[in-house]
Amino acid sequence: ALLMFGIIFAFMMLLFWDINHRSDKLAMKNTQLDEMAKKDPLTKLYNRRYMDVELENRMGALISEGKIFGIIMGDIDNFKKVNDTYGHDVGDDVLVAVANEITQALRGDDCVCRWGGEEFLVISNGNHHVTGEVAERIRKRIEDLTIESGGHKLNITMTFGISESIPGLRIDRLIQIADERLYKGKQSGKNCVVRE
Ligand code: GH3
Ligand code: MG
Ligand code: MG
Repeated sequence: ALLMFGIIFAFMMLLFWDINHRSDKLAMKNTQLDEMAKKDPLTKLYNRRYMDVELENRMGALISEGKIFGIIMGDIDNFKKVNDTYGHDVGDDVLVAVANEITQALRGDDCVCRWGGEEFLVISNGNHHVTGEVAERIRKRIEDLTIESGGHKLNITMTFGISESIPGLRIDRLIQIADERLYKGKQSGKNCVVRE
């Protein structure tokens, strides 16, 4: 009877260990999936889906706590030409380099996502003046950056439009304003920050 008990006990322990092990692995997979759903696979930046939620959160914090923020919409200038001249893989390297550069230019609670193809959206914590300075800092860093890829050395520029949060203003309107200013910048020669 003692032997029987011993065997059953050992078996139960094994079963218990196995269940634990499996649920640990499942939890790890879930965390990985969560990360994947939030991020752009190429640049490893947050994606648009994540940023949409984040923007709504920021608007909530603005209304409840008065935490002001601004958004920066940035777009690489003449990016199609990079692809056409050097190929899509070099274009991809440029996107990764730009993503890293913008990330390094940010501070504290500011955050960046890949909004679309060669478009990046930054949430900056601060008023319109501060947001303009953040955008200008990014613009300068990108202008000064030399990207090495596929045996080439490349220099690129970016154009930016910014907008300021107003309590209760719809997020899509905020983005539209930044977009319109970005467009204005493209029309007036690119490589600039348009604030109004
Ligand atoms: P502008 O200065 O007016 O912004 O001109 P542009 O050439 O940058 O803009 P356009 O919209 O004409 O071209 C954007 C290009 O970005 C076209 C598209 O193939 C490329 N693109 C979008 N996503 C990716 C990507 O993930 N990788 C690469 N290599 N290219 C991409
Ligand atoms: Mg574009
Ligand atoms: Mg472009």
